[in-house]
Amino acid sequence: MVVVLLGPPGVGKGTQAVRLVDELTAVHVSTGDLLRAARREGTELGTLAQGFMDRGELVPDDLILDLVKEHLAGIDASTDVMFDGFPRTTDQATGLDAVLEASGRKVNSVVLFEAPDEVLVKRLSGRRSCPECGAVYNAYFSPPVVEDVCDRSGGTLLHRADDEPDTVKRRLQVYLDQTAPLIAFYQDHSAAMTRIGADRDVEAIYADFQVAVTGSTGDVS
Ligand code: ADP
Repeated sequence: MVVVLLGPPGVGKGTQAVRLVDELTAVHVSTGDLLRAARREGTELGTLAQGFMDRGELVPDDLILDLVKEHLAGIDASTDVMFDGFPRTTDQATGLDAVLEASGRKVNSVVLFEAPDEVLVKRLSGRRSCPECGAVYNAYFSPPVVEDVCDRSGGTLLHRADDEPDTVKRRLQVYLDQTAPLIAFYQDHSAAMTRIGADRDVEAIYADFQVAVTGSTGDVS
């Protein structure tokens, strides 16, 4: 099974994906995470991607497709895969179809997460993470006890460069211009599409997400 998660930055795709792949023993493929890992490791791709990411722009399609192909080559074709933050353009989507077709697969299901822009701006511009233990906070919705200090590790919390307010606005515009056309692309595709309202409690979203991907809630084994 191949699932594509669509939706604007800050809508919570990643949070939901990490939890469900754990239950399903599927693989989570987040191009944002792969790019941030490449930056940390100082690879050529990481260096090339840095400027685009910090400006809130998309990394060029050819770099992204090479990254995804290389990553998929290390995953058995029988493994369920959940793509998060990829594809982000129609060229990436047609590129993904070609890669999957080569191993007799296709995108089976698309889940579209939706929330109003003002919610997304608040979630992203308030996001803080701990570089030591990976804990994530939100200055508006789930602040640490002491401002900018991790409750768990005592580390100083960081704000992602692309979560600065102006860059957040740019990312939302880029989503509308370049990624939202994928909704029509996948409606014309043989994959099933489910829309999920993501301006709700994490648990309520998760229940709908489980049904969209597995057809049932609770025990999905
Ligand atoms: P978000 O969904 O919150 O924007 P991501 O972690 O998915 O965060 O992506 C962060 C940045 O990484 C994007 O703004 C973009 O620069 C780059 N990026 C991630 N995935 C892709 C992709 N599929 N195509 C192009 N750029 C990407």
